[in-house]
Amino acid sequence: MSRIDFQVIMGHLRFDVVQGAFKKKAVGTETPAGKPSDYFGSLVFGRNKLKKFDDGVHLDPATADKVAEEMKVWALEHGATHVTHWFQPLTDGTAEKHDAFINPDGEGGVIEQFDGKSLVQQEPDASSFPNGGIRATFEARGYTAWDPTSPVFIQDDTLCIPSVFISYTGEALDYKTPLKKALKALNDAAVPLCRLFDPKVKRVYSYLGWEQEYFLVDEDLYAARPDLMLTGRTLMGHSSSKNQQLSDHYFGAIPSRVAAFMKDVETAGYKLGIPLKTRHNEVAPNQFEMAPVFEEANLSNDHNQMIMNVMTKIARKHGFVVLFHEKPFEGINGSGKHNNWSMGTDTGVQLLAPGKDAKGNLQFVAFFVNVLAAVQRHNGLLKASVASAGNAHRLGAHEAPPAIISAFLGKTMTEVLGKLLEVPSDTPIEIAGKKGRGVGLVEIPQIFVDNTDRNRTSPFAFTGNRFEFRAVGSSANCAGALTVLSAAVAQQLKEFKTSVDKAMADGAHLETAVMDCLKPIIASVLESICFEGNGYSEEWKKEAARRGLDTESSVPRMFCQFTAPSSVELFTQTGIYSLKELEARNEVKWDTYSTKVLIEARMAGRMAVNHILPAGVKYQARLLEDVNLLRQNFPDDYLTLASTQISLIKECSAILADIKARADKLNSAREEAEACDNSFRKALAAEKAAQALQALRKSIDALEEITDNDLWPLPKYRELLFIN
Ligand code: ADP
Ligand code: MG
Repeated sequence: MSRIDFQVIMGHLRFDVVQGAFKKKAVGTETPAGKPSDYFGSLVFGRNKLKKFDDGVHLDPATADKVAEEMKVWALEHGATHVTHWFQPLTDGTAEKHDAFINPDGEGGVIEQFDGKSLVQQEPDASSFPNGGIRATFEARGYTAWDPTSPVFIQDDTLCIPSVFISYTGEALDYKTPLKKALKALNDAAVPLCRLFDPKVKRVYSYLGWEQEYFLVDEDLYAARPDLMLTGRTLMGHSSSKNQQLSDHYFGAIPSRVAAFMKDVETAGYKLGIPLKTRHNEVAPNQFEMAPVFEEANLSNDHNQMIMNVMTKIARKHGFVVLFHEKPFEGINGSGKHNNWSMGTDTGVQLLAPGKDAKGNLQFVAFFVNVLAAVQRHNGLLKASVASAGNAHRLGAHEAPPAIISAFLGKTMTEVLGKLLEVPSDTPIEIAGKKGRGVGLVEIPQIFVDNTDRNRTSPFAFTGNRFEFRAVGSSANCAGALTVLSAAVAQQLKEFKTSVDKAMADGAHLETAVMDCLKPIIASVLESICFEGNGYSEEWKKEAARRGLDTESSVPRMFCQFTAPSSVELFTQTGIYSLKELEARNEVKWDTYSTKVLIEARMAGRMAVNHILPAGVKYQARLLEDVNLLRQNFPDDYLTLASTQISLIKECSAILADIKARADKLNSAREEAEACDNSFRKALAAEKAAQALQALRKSIDALEEITDNDLWPLPKYRELLFIN
């Protein structure tokens, strides 16, 4: 065997996995007998029984014991052997620590036990969860406490109890605690405003409908890409000749292996009481989306976390790995998790949709405008709430659109707001067409026909009866964004109500008072946060800066927003975070950012040396061998005959030198970051390493483009993206 033949065989791992992946057929799905409505919620413990323990109701020990006993009996009937408090720590994802129901009975056997105390509170050994220094200085332990507003469910053989996660000194160490506080703050601020319009309102709910985007990659191809395995994204890879230009994937049929995966996920989701509604291909090849019917925000967010777990598990059964990373592949669409968000009253009124009459419309406009004002005031903080190492690739870094939060209203609402500024404050806002065409001075359609004039480049868009926060990353816990949004809206509504009260105390009617207070806000939002143009353009970046919007594009610096005076005021006033919690969370955010980026840097540096340089050298050797053969056989004109090979050798040499130099630069940038002992400075240094990585990948991708396909060791973009 010649040296070159041996090298070819070594390069064949890629071809083996490609061949294997290509031949895979859809595996069978497991659908229970009956209709989805027959098994919907079959793995959820009686929601109705628990409703009475909604927020604020104290659960006495005897009742807790009774509930725990009922849960245990139900769980054992459904084959569960273990129980866990299920919580959402500041690492992404969810955490569990399973305890068996069994306990020794004292006579050599065991009995199944579960009591109220263990239901209500547990103390997981939580020392390895991020806490931003809170636990280090006080108490090493944390505890989890049952959240009775989210139902208990069974996952595999375990009874899962949705819980909050708190330090012994009371600081939140999770996503759920602040979300629940923010939802309560929003309720507390919104109810008094609603009561001006309808005194019967007792509660305002927040609703969330997420749209989960994700990629599926064949698991064998995945295993041959160390970067995907360790970082969740490709750190290199030349773009394929075809990607999403034809939109043929978006409109195409769902591939059969993927359809089987989706079916199994839906079945599992239904059993868990998750109302999954839509499934489809997304823009990029091998990218897909699923969305449920919207639900109360805390529940909907739990459901999102649950379904992400389910998807990760079920994907393996179908020979796939699911990628929740925001940008697994350069040059094609990334993945987001649009948060469709709205508010509604316990009397059934949707507060972000036109009302039944002029009064209802005024209430709608009041909520609508105040949301915009909140987004304007805290636009930098909202951006920070969705910022992460992964989402950086969608929000400002490298090839991403500018990182600026603006709001898209659509033609109808932009016109309505413009008109409101022109007419007297007591002008009724009519429903279009109700009194005949063009009678009312200010009209809004009852149902928005122009729902479709969507602006896909807007991070925060009004879509008829809700806002769609699109900047949220696909891997994110929605609570991060919703906590900030709810807090900002709560603060704004409270201030607005105070100003309306004052105007009414001065003798104005409700309608006039509300509109008088709204007008300056409308004028301000139209000039600042509202933007209907192309949010991805360079001109917008300049215009946004002129308008005073936050244009920071460095993720570590974005996080500083959390401890800016306006944010500290917001969070302490609404009782959501203490200053200590905010500082601790920023520590966690910076640490997470650095950790992720530096793993990528290490991985890319090693791959450059262990995978890429050797492939380039082999290719060069092959070319040199050919030049040698030509020289031996055609000593007189070999220089002409071998001219292509010789120029390729030179090109290859130049790129190899670049790769080596850039890998060295990346390594020293990484080492510099690793040596920092301050979280913020470390994150900034890591960001520099991320830039060095980007430069390195450019050279690697250039090498891939000229190197013999046979010798390239890593599955290529076209293989990762088109095999399914
Ligand atoms: P699109 O892709 O057009 O934005 P989808 O149907 O994929 O629409 O997703 C819309 C999401 O918005 C769904 O989760 C849906 O339940 C949710 N949604 C619809 N109305 C509301 C509302 N009033 N409040 C919150 N979410 C909503
Ligand atoms: Mg959408």
